Amino acid sequence: MAEVEGSSPSVPTRACILEKAFKAKEIRTKSVPEVSIKDQIKQLVELQKIDGEVYAFKKDLQEKPAYLADLKNHFEAKKANLKSLEEKSKAIVLQRKSFEGELKSREEEIVKTNAQLSQLKTNKEYQAKINEIEHIKADKSIIEEKILLSYDEVDKVNAEIEKEKAILAEEEKGYLSQKVAIETQIKEIEDKLKVLNSQRSQMTAGVDPANLAMYEKILEKKEGVAIVPIQGHSCGGCFMNTPEQMINEIRMHDHMVSCEMCNRILYLQEEL
Ligand SMILES: [Zn+2]
Repeated sequence: MAEVEGSSPSVPTRACILEKAFKAKEIRTKSVPEVSIKDQIKQLVELQKIDGEVYAFKKDLQEKPAYLADLKNHFEAKKANLKSLEEKSKAIVLQRKSFEGELKSREEEIVKTNAQLSQLKTNKEYQAKINEIEHIKADKSIIEEKILLSYDEVDKVNAEIEKEKAILAEEEKGYLSQKVAIETQIKEIEDKLKVLNSQRSQMTAGVDPANLAMYEKILEKKEGVAIVPIQGHSCGGCFMNTPEQMINEIRMHDHMVSCEMCNRILYLQEEL
């Protein structure tokens, strides 16, 4: 029985397993950085505090210009509306001038036609001329009516223009002060980010590069949260239940343990 066991290379002996485990431990011991996993986790937890802020600030920086653009668009639309009202007013005045030109030519026609009356010989001719004059007078009063309406219309449009101008002036004030405020906020955020980034670069010194790379990759994919505490028996990031065995694994601080659901690095607050 013992002979069969020993001669089969595919079945590892207990000694063989132990040796492998020992070698693996030896390799691990050699590759372990000077800073223990526990201390690396402590550093990452501190780093996370900064990165959480960095993430929120960066998000803010992305949103602010879009907000400013929205304000600007709203303001520009109001301005365009005012411009179209001003054009409307100009068009009404232009049309009125053309009506006034027509009115003048009708008046001249009436004078001319009246002068022709004395030269007419027959009653019929006279009556025809009188009809012609009446016709021109009727035309003239239609034109006069149009001119009066155009005065009313332009008054209405001009009143609207004045109202819009006042609103626009207020909105311009508001827009400009918001613009200045937002630009100031952007500048402040950029300054804060500079400070945070310089703090950050001093905090990663002891973290194993592979662990740091893993942390940063999760940070990017998981909305700025890469390392979370266990809360009760759940992941502090996605709140999925964490098995007891995994919690024990975290407690051992032998390697970084990640949540099976969200992939965030897990730690136990009481262990730090
Ligand atoms: Zn999770």
